Amino acid sequence: MKPILFLNPVFKQMIWGGSRLAEQFGYDIPGDDTGECWAVSAHPNGDCTIREGIYEGKTLSELWSSHPELFGNPGLDRFPLLIKIIDARDDLSIQVHPNDTYAREHENGSLGKTECWYILDCPEDAALVVGHNAGTRQELAEMIHEGKWTELIRQIPVKRGDFIQIDPGTVHAIKGGMMILETQQNSDVTYRVYDYDRLTGGKPRQLHVEQSIDVITVPAPSADESVSSVAELSKNTLHELIACDYYKVWKLETAETFSFEQTHPFLIVSVIGGQGQVNGKEIRKGDHFILPEGFGTVALQGDMQLIMSSI
Ligand code: ZN
Repeated sequence: MKPILFLNPVFKQMIWGGSRLAEQFGYDIPGDDTGECWAVSAHPNGDCTIREGIYEGKTLSELWSSHPELFGNPGLDRFPLLIKIIDARDDLSIQVHPNDTYAREHENGSLGKTECWYILDCPEDAALVVGHNAGTRQELAEMIHEGKWTELIRQIPVKRGDFIQIDPGTVHAIKGGMMILETQQNSDVTYRVYDYDRLTGGKPRQLHVEQSIDVITVPAPSADESVSSVAELSKNTLHELIACDYYKVWKLETAETFSFEQTHPFLIVSVIGGQGQVNGKEIRKGDHFILPEGFGTVALQGDMQLIMSSI
Protein backbone atom coordinates (compact mmCIF):
# COMPACT_ATOMS: atom_id res chain seq x y z
CA MET A 1 0.00 0.00 0.00
CA LYS A 2 1.17 3.55 -0.75
CA PRO A 3 2.09 5.54 2.38
CA ILE A 4 -0.04 8.26 3.95
CA LEU A 5 2.12 11.39 3.88
CA PHE A 6 1.60 13.24 7.19
CA LEU A 7 3.15 16.71 7.31
CA ASN A 8 4.76 18.87 9.99
CA PRO A 9 3.32 22.38 9.71
CA VAL A 10 5.42 25.54 9.49
CA PHE A 11 4.28 28.50 11.62
CA LYS A 12 4.46 32.22 10.82
CA GLN A 13 4.38 34.98 13.40
CA MET A 14 2.46 38.05 12.24
CA ILE A 15 1.53 41.41 13.79
CA TRP A 16 -2.10 40.36 13.52
CA GLY A 17 -1.59 36.75 14.79
CA GLY A 18 -2.85 35.11 17.99
CA SER A 19 -2.71 31.92 20.05
CA ARG A 20 -5.74 29.93 18.84
CA LEU A 21 -3.60 27.63 16.68
CA ALA A 22 -2.40 26.23 20.02
CA GLU A 23 -5.70 26.54 21.92
CA GLN A 24 -7.99 25.14 19.22
CA PHE A 25 -5.68 22.93 17.16
CA GLY A 26 -3.11 21.83 19.74
CA TYR A 27 -0.10 23.02 17.75
CA ASP A 28 3.22 23.86 19.37
CA ILE A 29 3.33 27.48 18.18
CA PRO A 30 6.35 29.82 18.40
CA GLY A 31 4.50 32.70 20.15
CA ASP A 32 1.14 34.29 20.89
CA ASP A 33 1.38 36.26 17.66
CA THR A 34 1.19 33.18 15.42
CA GLY A 35 -0.91 34.11 12.41
CA GLU A 36 -0.41 31.26 9.98
CA CYS A 37 0.03 27.52 10.03
CA TRP A 38 1.40 26.42 6.64
CA ALA A 39 -0.07 22.96 6.91
CA VAL A 40 0.67 21.57 3.46
CA SER A 41 3.36 23.56 1.71
CA ALA A 42 6.34 23.03 -0.57
CA HIS A 43 6.96 26.76 -0.90
CA PRO A 44 10.57 27.92 -0.26
CA ASN A 45 9.27 30.32 2.42
CA GLY A 46 7.90 27.38 4.41
CA ASP A 47 8.57 23.87 3.12
CA CYS A 48 6.81 21.23 5.27
CA THR A 49 8.64 18.05 6.26
CA ILE A 50 7.17 14.55 6.25
CA ARG A 51 6.35 13.57 9.85
CA GLU A 52 6.86 9.80 9.81
CA GLY A 53 7.40 6.69 7.72
CA ILE A 54 9.93 5.94 4.99
CA TYR A 55 10.11 9.59 3.88
CA GLU A 56 10.37 11.04 7.41
CA GLY A 57 12.29 14.33 7.50
CA LYS A 58 12.20 14.93 3.75
CA THR A 59 10.63 18.17 2.62
CA LEU A 60 7.51 18.13 0.50
CA SER A 61 9.42 19.86 -2.31
CA GLU A 62 12.14 17.13 -2.22
CA LEU A 63 9.51 14.41 -2.35
CA TRP A 64 7.72 16.21 -5.20
CA SER A 65 10.92 16.16 -7.32
CA SER A 66 12.26 12.74 -6.33
CA HIS A 67 8.96 10.80 -6.29
CA PRO A 68 6.60 12.42 -8.80
CA GLU A 69 4.74 9.10 -9.05
CA LEU A 70 3.30 9.73 -5.56
CA PHE A 71 1.55 12.78 -7.01
CA GLY A 72 0.37 11.26 -10.29
CA ASN A 73 3.30 12.59 -12.39
CA PRO A 74 1.47 15.81 -13.23
CA GLY A 75 4.51 17.33 -15.01
CA LEU A 76 4.40 20.60 -13.04
CA ASP A 77 7.60 22.36 -11.93
CA ARG A 78 6.45 22.73 -8.32
CA PHE A 79 3.86 21.39 -5.91
CA PRO A 80 0.81 23.38 -7.02
CA LEU A 81 -1.13 23.99 -3.80
CA LEU A 82 -0.62 25.49 -0.36
CA ILE A 83 -2.96 24.87 2.59
CA LYS A 84 -2.94 27.26 5.54
CA ILE A 85 -4.86 27.79 8.73
CA ILE A 86 -5.03 31.48 9.58
CA ASP A 87 -5.65 32.87 13.07
CA ALA A 88 -6.45 36.57 12.76
CA ARG A 89 -6.55 38.17 16.21
CA ASP A 90 -6.48 41.52 14.43
CA ASP A 91 -7.44 42.67 10.92
CA LEU A 92 -5.16 41.60 8.05
CA SER A 93 -4.07 44.21 5.56
CA ILE A 94 -6.35 44.95 2.62
CA GLN A 95 -4.72 43.18 -0.27
CA VAL A 96 -4.97 41.74 -3.75
CA HIS A 97 -3.12 39.00 -5.64
CA PRO A 98 -2.00 39.04 -9.27
CA ASN A 99 -2.87 36.34 -11.79
CA ASP A 100 -0.24 33.97 -13.28
CA THR A 101 0.52 36.22 -16.26
CA TYR A 102 1.18 39.33 -14.18
CA ALA A 103 3.16 37.44 -11.51
CA ARG A 104 5.34 35.66 -14.08
CA GLU A 105 6.26 38.99 -15.64
CA HIS A 106 6.64 41.12 -12.50
CA GLU A 107 7.53 38.64 -9.71
CA ASN A 108 10.43 36.52 -10.98
CA GLY A 109 8.39 33.77 -12.59
CA SER A 110 6.24 33.29 -9.51
CA LEU A 111 2.71 31.91 -9.81
CA GLY A 112 -0.28 34.17 -9.30
CA LYS A 113 -2.68 33.41 -6.52
CA THR A 114 -6.22 32.16 -6.55
CA GLU A 115 -7.38 31.20 -3.06
CA CYS A 116 -10.46 30.10 -1.18
CA TRP A 117 -11.50 30.23 2.46
CA TYR A 118 -13.47 27.94 4.71
CA ILE A 119 -14.44 29.86 7.86
CA LEU A 120 -13.56 27.71 10.87
CA ASP A 121 -14.51 30.28 13.49
CA CYS A 122 -15.59 33.91 13.61
CA PRO A 123 -17.36 36.36 15.90
CA GLU A 124 -21.10 37.06 15.69
CA ASP A 125 -21.91 39.60 12.98
CA ALA A 126 -18.54 39.02 11.29
CA ALA A 127 -17.74 40.55 7.94
CA LEU A 128 -15.02 40.10 5.35
CA VAL A 129 -13.65 42.59 2.87
CA VAL A 130 -14.40 41.20 -0.60
CA GLY A 131 -14.43 43.54 -3.59
CA HIS A 132 -14.73 47.32 -3.88
CA ASN A 133 -17.10 50.05 -5.03
CA ALA A 134 -15.06 51.89 -7.68
CA GLY A 135 -16.70 52.07 -11.11
CA THR A 136 -13.57 52.70 -13.19
CA ARG A 137 -9.81 52.20 -12.81
CA GLN A 138 -9.38 55.97 -12.61
CA GLU A 139 -11.91 56.19 -9.79
CA LEU A 140 -10.16 53.27 -8.07
CA ALA A 141 -6.79 55.03 -8.30
CA GLU A 142 -8.26 58.29 -6.94
CA MET A 143 -9.97 56.60 -4.01
CA ILE A 144 -6.77 54.73 -3.10
CA HIS A 145 -4.52 57.79 -3.41
CA GLU A 146 -6.97 59.88 -1.38
CA GLY A 147 -7.39 57.17 1.26
CA LYS A 148 -11.19 56.91 0.91
CA TRP A 149 -11.18 53.43 2.41
CA THR A 150 -14.68 53.32 3.86
CA GLU A 151 -16.20 54.32 0.51
CA LEU A 152 -13.94 52.06 -1.52
CA ILE A 153 -14.08 48.82 0.40
CA ARG A 154 -16.99 46.41 0.24
CA GLN A 155 -17.73 44.31 3.30
CA ILE A 156 -19.92 41.23 3.23
CA PRO A 157 -21.47 39.44 6.23
CA VAL A 158 -20.16 35.91 6.89
CA LYS A 159 -20.58 33.17 9.47
CA ARG A 160 -18.95 29.95 10.56
CA GLY A 161 -18.99 27.32 7.82
CA ASP A 162 -19.10 29.83 4.96
CA PHE A 163 -16.91 29.19 1.92
CA ILE A 164 -15.53 31.97 -0.28
CA GLN A 165 -13.58 31.86 -3.52
CA ILE A 166 -11.11 34.77 -4.01
CA ASP A 167 -10.01 35.13 -7.63
CA PRO A 168 -6.89 37.13 -8.56
CA GLY A 169 -7.73 40.83 -8.82
CA THR A 170 -10.21 40.67 -5.91
CA VAL A 171 -9.57 43.18 -3.12
CA HIS A 172 -9.90 41.21 0.13
CA ALA A 173 -9.12 41.16 3.81
CA ILE A 174 -9.65 38.79 6.70
CA LYS A 175 -10.93 40.62 9.77
CA GLY A 176 -9.95 40.23 13.40
CA GLY A 177 -11.48 37.24 15.22
CA MET A 178 -11.58 34.92 12.25
CA MET A 179 -10.00 31.51 11.84
CA ILE A 180 -9.87 30.30 8.28
CA LEU A 181 -8.66 27.27 6.38
CA GLU A 182 -7.21 28.53 3.13
CA THR A 183 -6.60 26.48 0.00
CA GLN A 184 -4.53 28.38 -2.54
CA GLN A 185 -2.10 28.23 -5.40
CA ASN A 186 1.49 27.74 -4.25
CA SER A 187 2.43 31.40 -4.28
CA ASP A 188 3.39 34.06 -1.76
CA VAL A 189 2.75 37.13 -3.91
CA THR A 190 0.55 39.64 -2.12
CA TYR A 191 0.07 43.30 -2.96
CA ARG A 192 -0.84 45.28 0.12
CA VAL A 193 -3.27 48.09 -0.70
CA TYR A 194 -3.78 49.46 2.82
CA ASP A 195 -2.55 48.38 6.25
CA TYR A 196 -4.66 50.60 8.57
CA ASP A 197 -1.55 52.78 9.08
CA ARG A 198 -0.15 50.16 11.49
CA LEU A 199 3.50 50.12 12.50
CA THR A 200 5.79 47.11 12.93
CA GLY A 201 8.94 47.93 14.91
CA GLY A 202 8.10 51.62 14.46
CA LYS A 203 7.70 51.38 10.69
CA PRO A 204 4.74 50.80 8.39
CA ARG A 205 4.82 47.58 6.33
CA GLN A 206 5.47 48.08 2.65
CA LEU A 207 2.46 48.90 0.47
CA HIS A 208 2.20 48.02 -3.23
CA VAL A 209 -0.17 50.70 -4.41
CA GLU A 210 0.75 50.86 -8.11
CA GLN A 211 0.82 47.08 -8.56
CA SER A 212 -2.55 46.89 -6.78
CA ILE A 213 -4.12 49.47 -9.08
CA ASP A 214 -2.73 47.45 -12.04
CA VAL A 215 -4.22 44.12 -11.00
CA ILE A 216 -7.52 44.94 -9.22
CA THR A 217 -10.54 43.85 -11.29
CA VAL A 218 -12.75 46.88 -12.09
CA PRO A 219 -15.65 46.92 -11.55
CA ALA A 220 -15.67 44.20 -8.90
CA PRO A 221 -17.95 41.24 -9.64
CA SER A 222 -20.90 40.72 -7.29
CA ALA A 223 -19.83 39.13 -3.99
CA ASP A 224 -23.02 37.05 -3.66
CA GLU A 225 -21.74 34.56 -6.23
CA SER A 226 -18.51 33.94 -4.36
CA VAL A 227 -19.93 33.05 -0.89
CA SER A 228 -21.76 29.83 -0.03
CA SER A 229 -22.92 28.47 3.30
CA VAL A 230 -21.63 24.91 3.74
CA ALA A 231 -21.85 24.52 7.53
CA GLU A 232 -24.68 21.98 7.46
CA LEU A 233 -24.23 19.41 4.72
CA SER A 234 -25.30 15.79 4.67
CA LYS A 235 -22.87 13.41 6.38
CA ASN A 236 -20.85 10.67 4.69
CA THR A 237 -21.03 12.48 1.34
CA LEU A 238 -18.22 14.22 -0.57
CA HIS A 239 -19.46 17.75 -1.18
CA GLU A 240 -17.59 19.68 -3.86
CA LEU A 241 -17.16 23.29 -2.69
CA ILE A 242 -15.33 24.57 -5.76
CA ALA A 243 -13.73 23.36 -8.97
CA CYS A 244 -11.61 26.04 -10.69
CA ASP A 245 -8.57 25.99 -13.02
CA TYR A 246 -6.18 25.50 -10.08
CA TYR A 247 -7.88 23.25 -7.55
CA LYS A 248 -10.90 21.30 -6.46
CA VAL A 249 -12.02 21.47 -2.83
CA TRP A 250 -14.41 19.18 -0.97
CA LYS A 251 -15.93 19.04 2.48
CA LEU A 252 -16.64 15.71 4.12
CA GLU A 253 -18.28 15.11 7.47
CA THR A 254 -18.02 11.50 8.53
CA ALA A 255 -20.36 9.69 10.92
CA GLU A 256 -18.98 6.36 12.21
CA THR A 257 -17.59 4.90 8.99
CA PHE A 258 -17.23 6.09 5.42
CA SER A 259 -15.12 4.81 2.51
CA PHE A 260 -14.33 6.19 -0.91
CA GLU A 261 -11.79 5.65 -3.70
CA GLN A 262 -8.82 8.01 -4.09
CA THR A 263 -9.04 8.67 -7.85
CA HIS A 264 -7.10 12.00 -8.01
CA PRO A 265 -3.41 12.60 -8.81
CA PHE A 266 -3.09 13.16 -5.05
CA LEU A 267 -5.57 14.11 -2.34
CA ILE A 268 -4.80 16.57 0.47
CA VAL A 269 -6.81 16.01 3.64
CA SER A 270 -7.09 18.44 6.58
CA VAL A 271 -8.87 17.31 9.74
CA ILE A 272 -10.69 20.42 11.01
CA GLY A 273 -12.80 18.69 13.66
CA GLY A 274 -13.14 15.42 15.58
CA GLN A 275 -10.90 12.40 15.62
CA GLY A 276 -10.87 8.91 14.22
CA GLN A 277 -8.86 6.74 11.86
CA VAL A 278 -7.81 6.60 8.24
CA ASN A 279 -7.09 3.02 7.12
CA GLY A 280 -6.41 2.11 10.75
CA LYS A 281 -4.10 5.06 11.46
CA GLU A 282 -5.19 7.48 14.23
CA ILE A 283 -5.99 11.00 13.06
CA ARG A 284 -7.34 14.05 14.86
CA LYS A 285 -8.21 17.71 14.48
CA GLY A 286 -5.11 19.54 13.28
CA ASP A 287 -3.65 16.67 11.22
CA HIS A 288 -2.94 17.23 7.54
CA PHE A 289 -1.90 14.50 5.13
CA ILE A 290 -1.62 13.62 1.46
CA LEU A 291 -2.98 10.40 -0.02
CA PRO A 292 -0.83 9.53 -3.05
CA GLU A 293 -2.02 8.47 -6.48
CA GLY A 294 -3.15 4.85 -6.47
CA PHE A 295 -3.81 4.82 -2.73
CA GLY A 296 -7.00 2.90 -3.37
CA THR A 297 -9.81 2.77 -0.82
CA VAL A 298 -9.79 5.46 1.85
CA ALA A 299 -11.46 3.93 4.91
CA LEU A 300 -12.45 6.51 7.51
CA GLN A 301 -13.74 5.80 10.99
CA GLY A 302 -15.06 8.23 13.58
CA ASP A 303 -16.98 11.49 13.58
CA MET A 304 -14.81 14.04 11.78
CA GLN A 305 -14.94 17.16 9.65
CA LEU A 306 -12.47 17.17 6.75
CA ILE A 307 -11.56 19.64 4.05
CA MET A 308 -9.90 17.99 1.07
CA SER A 309 -8.33 19.27 -2.11
CA SER A 310 -6.60 18.21 -5.30
CA ILE A 311 -5.76 19.59 -8.71
ZN1 ZN B 1 -5.06 36.65 0.00
